[in-house]
Amino acid sequence: MSEKTKIIVARHAGFCPGVKKAIDMALELARNRKQPIYTLGPLIHNRQVIETLEEKNIKAINDISQIKDSNSILVIRAHGIPQSEEEKLRATSMEIIDATCPLVKKVHSNIFDYSQKGYETIIVGDKDHTEVIGLMSYAKDICHIISGPDEAKKLPFIKKANIVAQTTQEETIFNACVEVLRDKTDELIISNTICAPTKERQKETIEFAKDCDLIIVVGGRNSANTQRLFKICSKITKEAIHIEKDDELPSDALNNRRNVFITAGASTPNWMIEKVLEKVRDLSKKEKSFLAEKLTFLGKLFVTGSLYTAISAMALTYICMKLESVEMDIRLIILSGLFVASLHIINRMEEKGSVVPDSAQKFLFIRFKSAVKLIGILFGIVSIIISAFFGIKIFILTALFWLAGIFYPYKTLAGLNKFPDFPASKDIVTAFGWSFVCAGLPAIDGETLIYKSTQLAVLFALLLVFMRSVLLGISNVHNDMIVGNENFYKAAGPKLTYLIVSLIFIFVEIVLITLFNMGWKEVLVRTMFFGLFYYMVVMALFFFKKIPERISSETIIDFQFIFLGLLAFIAA
Ligand code: SF4
Repeated sequence: MSEKTKIIVARHAGFCPGVKKAIDMALELARNRKQPIYTLGPLIHNRQVIETLEEKNIKAINDISQIKDSNSILVIRAHGIPQSEEEKLRATSMEIIDATCPLVKKVHSNIFDYSQKGYETIIVGDKDHTEVIGLMSYAKDICHIISGPDEAKKLPFIKKANIVAQTTQEETIFNACVEVLRDKTDELIISNTICAPTKERQKETIEFAKDCDLIIVVGGRNSANTQRLFKICSKITKEAIHIEKDDELPSDALNNRRNVFITAGASTPNWMIEKVLEKVRDLSKKEKSFLAEKLTFLGKLFVTGSLYTAISAMALTYICMKLESVEMDIRLIILSGLFVASLHIINRMEEKGSVVPDSAQKFLFIRFKSAVKLIGILFGIVSIIISAFFGIKIFILTALFWLAGIFYPYKTLAGLNKFPDFPASKDIVTAFGWSFVCAGLPAIDGETLIYKSTQLAVLFALLLVFMRSVLLGISNVHNDMIVGNENFYKAAGPKLTYLIVSLIFIFVEIVLITLFNMGWKEVLVRTMFFGLFYYMVVMALFFFKKIPERISSETIIDFQFIFLGLLAFIAA
């Protein structure tokens, strides 16, 4: 086994926009509607995701006769369905939600328009694939399905033909068919309808595959596009392996490999690719010491178990106390760490079903679930007990905020899901919780809340935590974790999110300039002003899609408070 194994992960691997949009639509329905939700066929060829969707009341069926409740909602998946079938569905009393990918719809229109003009349709694709069955229905004249140039040769001479491709078709096959048909038609309209995400995926695979001695293709065995990707890889590289999950990777797979390329089909979530990457790294470093392995795992537990976040919260409290010029009280710093850790642990535990857990999540939230939950509650109780030392007002406020935070993940059970589920609710609730405990409590205790400088410090904390939460949300979406509109990035979309976060950054800097101009803690404020550029670096990384996997993302994002805390300490 070579120590110098180079591992490259495809930039275009993972959920395509069409699949992602369909899943988001279904999840949004599950969150806001009470009726049963069905999808005609699975939304995605990935068992773990299907199970998670089922937990969220979204069931895949093969035939509408399986639906007993006429009040149900039926989602048409990204591949689309035949026109006649759609008409039949719309004639029922069910609510039909069309999640057909816009790029598939474009092919529908293309076929319909040309067939109206008298062109015969030739589809290069798999005749049994749902998308192709749907495409055929839009041809008003003769429609031929061919899988490749050999079948193209068998077609009769056609006067006017429009050749289209299944959106996930291999481009070389499509082009080969076109070449054959040039001589078999009087007029040939070439409609290369392979979608852009597929083209990019294939282009990238071909580019990297040449120099690799192993390609690992991750994706469902019944996913047509993953199979096609695997076929492409098998043709151009020494060895290609198709796996569905990380544990399918043979232990000797990395033997004598120098260049390994990992790619995935359109229905493979990024977190599965990350798990495969983790496994590949493990296999390529068998010599990794026992101690190093244990330390890595402990690091993961530290971050996943919210202890790292607790340190960040304590650092933010320290900064706020300095900014508010209140007397440093270690009890308030400890209180904030315990309070934040408690809420994060409990909330995370309830989010467990949203992704297939990694080793740290399995350990904390499955194997030792009860113990960890107890620790989370104990942290909260201890923080409330500490708050009692600061008087009845602080005690009541801390208890109320803590109860509200604990209640957040159980809102659906209490029938209050509409109330806190407004767009970005999670980021807003988190920001208020942190700013209360990190900035509000020291200010209330020090009786400085009436001062403009303190109010600005509270605003500073509120906005910083909101930005932190949004960045974490971006990381979660990037890693294809199932999140909904309570996540700002999901609710607002990428452009608006980056715009708002940039504006908040500018605003926070203005807050600091205002404090500086007020002559308030000039050295500290100036240090914070420059320290905040750490955010800009993280934001730029995220904007240019250099988003690492979940634990690294969280480590980088939460480090901002530790970094600012250290700067504040030096500046003090
Ligand atoms: S593969 Fe392309 S056409 Fe098909 S759902 Fe994904 S983005 Fe849409």
